[in-house]
Amino acid sequence: MVALKEFMDNLIAKNPGEPLFHQAVQEVAESLLPYIQEHPEYEKAKILERMTEPERVIIFRVPWIDDKGEFQINRGFRVQMSSAIGPYKGGIRLHPSVNLGMLKFLAFEQVLKNSLTTLPMGGAKGGSDFDPKGKSDNEVMRFCQSFMTELQRHVGADTDVPAGDIGTGAREVGFMFGQYKRLRNEFVGVLTGKGLEYGGSLIRPEATGYGTTYFAQYMLATKGDSLKGKRVAISGSGNVAQYAVEKCTQLGATVVSVSDSNGCIIDEAGIDAEKLAYIMDLKNVKRGRIKEYASKYPSSKYYEGQRPWQLVKVDVAMPCATQNELSEADAKALLANGVICVAEGANMPSEIGAVNAFLAAKILYAPGKASNAGGVATSGLEMSQNSERLSWTREEVDQKLQRIMKDIHDNCVKYGTGADGVVNYVKGANIAGFVKVANAMLAQGLV
Ligand code: NDP
Repeated sequence: MVALKEFMDNLIAKNPGEPLFHQAVQEVAESLLPYIQEHPEYEKAKILERMTEPERVIIFRVPWIDDKGEFQINRGFRVQMSSAIGPYKGGIRLHPSVNLGMLKFLAFEQVLKNSLTTLPMGGAKGGSDFDPKGKSDNEVMRFCQSFMTELQRHVGADTDVPAGDIGTGAREVGFMFGQYKRLRNEFVGVLTGKGLEYGGSLIRPEATGYGTTYFAQYMLATKGDSLKGKRVAISGSGNVAQYAVEKCTQLGATVVSVSDSNGCIIDEAGIDAEKLAYIMDLKNVKRGRIKEYASKYPSSKYYEGQRPWQLVKVDVAMPCATQNELSEADAKALLANGVICVAEGANMPSEIGAVNAFLAAKILYAPGKASNAGGVATSGLEMSQNSERLSWTREEVDQKLQRIMKDIHDNCVKYGTGADGVVNYVKGANIAGFVKVANAMLAQGLV
């Protein structure tokens, strides 16, 4: 613990005002430092100190013109955290809350996550404080073109391959890809999450939500259990949440909630395929608010400004919206109501107090870097298909995704099983992700 305090004090002094980055590193350092102390070669080479210092950070101005002809200025970022095991890889977040500390947290998590996928991908994250909400398609296009006009200097199919994240979906990826191609005059796999017509992979839109659900299923299987007949609470109603709802339902569970940044809906009757199609149209096409669901389906109720965790009694919880959306009090309420499994679709959705509550209760709890890795894993598969200029079938990609999620699960079990036989998936994911990157860093010398 002395080592942890000293390590964190140094990190905080070097990175002031970046609480999300501190939180992400602390969670990892707690499980890694004891392991590193048993491996003096990692300690001597200052691997963790190097892994928490980005290889490169790019910050740039993004000027664009809105529909009224007014000038708008946003700030763009790319944090290239580690290229130890492959080209930088990680999404682009477009949200007014985006700042350097948030992207450092996401890039740091991405390094370990990408390593866990078993594919050769380094870690990065980028984004901007631009808010696509309420903007016209033309405004979003002008922003994306301006953003890529600068970013194109720093990315490339063998250098750094961005993808979607909060606020960056198929529309934004398309505009960014178009601008990259125009400026560089090359048609390459510089972004993943592309449309199927121009190099995208089948199953990539579904991959994060499906992967999180597969991970929950693998955890439950260790207890001889499954999702069939379980009640599930899901937060968010974006890309990850939508496909988590779909896969949970296909596997026989009843999903009773979704949410957005304004509030959540509880639907005790369950969100079936028809209701999910309504949500997809509402969110992806009409770009509306989730409260409209409650007017459409009287079996449901809308709760303004609330999250689902304290409103329902469920067996499984899957936070799929954003960071720190599940507090310690939420975790305690879920536990009191008998939750047996929590699989994170979002990145760091549980506050540290919530994580500790889940670990203390010894339920099946998977941190995002393990359970939501299916998205980036399928991005890795998209890169492979682009390189060989071939497309794999839906079944092929889905099978590979399931195989990867199973491997990640089994690696967490390998590194996270305690003397009492209980699996600590946080410890398992952190160590399993770390070892591959650390060994690559040792091999490559002090760079
Ligand atoms: P989307 O933008 O598609 O959806 C995000 C959802 O979360 C929306 O319902 C949004 O509500 C809600 N949300 C966003 N910010 C907040 C907030 N501050 N408070 C409450 N709700 C919020 O993003 P994704 O589904 O792609 O991403 C969700 C999470 O999953 C993120 O943590 C992301 O980093 C993570 N992730 C995504 C991957 C992917 O492949 N897309 C891969 C791995 C992780 P509203 O509509 O009101 O904005």
